[in-house]
Amino acid sequence: MIVQGQSAGLDYTISLKDASLAISLGEQEIIVRDRAGRLYSLYQNGRHHRRSLNGQILQKQQTAAGRQRRWLDPIEAAALIDFAAQRFRQVLDALRRPDWNWITPPDQPAALSEVFAAIELGARFDSVTAQSDAAQFAAVYSPIGILPPDQYLALVLQATEGCSFNTCTFCDLYHQPFRIKTPDEFRAHLREVRAYLGDSLRLRNRSIFLGAANALAIPMSRLRPIFDIIAQEFNCHSERSDAWRPTGALRRTWAESLPDQLETLRRSASQSDKMGIYAFLDAFTGTRKDIDDYRVLAERGLRRVYIGLESGHDPLLEFVRKPGHAADAIETVRAIKAAGVNVGVIVMIGLGGDRFSAGHIADTIDVLNAMQLGVGDLIYFSDLVEAPGTPYPALALNHSIRALTSEERSAQRTAIRNRLRVNGVKFSNYDVREFVY
Ligand code: SF4
Repeated sequence: MIVQGQSAGLDYTISLKDASLAISLGEQEIIVRDRAGRLYSLYQNGRHHRRSLNGQILQKQQTAAGRQRRWLDPIEAAALIDFAAQRFRQVLDALRRPDWNWITPPDQPAALSEVFAAIELGARFDSVTAQSDAAQFAAVYSPIGILPPDQYLALVLQATEGCSFNTCTFCDLYHQPFRIKTPDEFRAHLREVRAYLGDSLRLRNRSIFLGAANALAIPMSRLRPIFDIIAQEFNCHSERSDAWRPTGALRRTWAESLPDQLETLRRSASQSDKMGIYAFLDAFTGTRKDIDDYRVLAERGLRRVYIGLESGHDPLLEFVRKPGHAADAIETVRAIKAAGVNVGVIVMIGLGGDRFSAGHIADTIDVLNAMQLGVGDLIYFSDLVEAPGTPYPALALNHSIRALTSEERSAQRTAIRNRLRVNGVKFSNYDVREFVY
């Protein structure tokens, strides 16, 4: 429902959807909340802010120098949250003023009370509430290191913590030791997540992402019960592999529309019509499962597996201490696809700098072509980000490796893409600095 009105010379547009509430004032400000009242995003005068459930806020801005991004410090974040809450109170006041003039009124009085209730909920989400909300998030979740871009609105459930390798010299995503949760722990975690999210679940119901870095590395005897718990808790049925359907809250808003910027995010998913379970898997461990194992998981809702190939060039994988070889990735992807599950393959652009560029391009093309990718599969190009504190920058320096310029990276991406023989595969860039959960 979209309603519009005017008061004191200001234009207000209120968009209440099943999963979100967006309020805009004029053309330079829009505040979006989920249906639990949590701040999702705030756009104002060219600056876009995204709040993570962990309480941090990423600010993004397009400038003449390019795209700028930074995390607000805690004082700035609290001020922004309070501003958004204050704005919602102002909207409530405006709606009650005698000079309020409906341009597009709600069609029924009941709809108006729903709008009031949703705005009141948002007005209560101030910096004090947000702080305690972030603490609850930290009690329920281990840090969520990264998701593929088409899964940013997934419901994350963590079957494992950390990464089973933690050796890659460019990676700073996981700091805790790898651990597999027991079925009882996982069920308790799932219920805690559901209770914590409450009505926010409506926004994160397009898929389930099984975390963390390498959840599918769990041996089948322990992985099957995890998938079964998800099916039990969400009342899914799975007689056929394409029949996996959640019911209740997870399904309720599946087909509902969202405010524009969320809709853009949803459209970025290549298979937004396919509900199900999604997860990362490293190519090396993936060879320990066969086609029948992946079929078992497909029957239980597995829809796409994301593999951080990074490169098809073995000397480069060895140099950056990425476990496994390119041949493992081919074998793993073929087994997954033979089981009817799609893949998302992530290629790191700029990895290994000038020293490895030629080999990286040639071998990555060969490996991607050998994977027999097709409709429903994704290839992500992710630019290397030299994270401070990781071994990669010093390693590159010690080997006199020059980082590629942005033009060289762009050329590398184009060189790989232009020589791929893949039909129906979707390509996208993947900027890990934009990830916010
Ligand atoms: S396997 Fe993935 S998550 Fe683990 S250290 Fe390497 S890049 Fe990071």
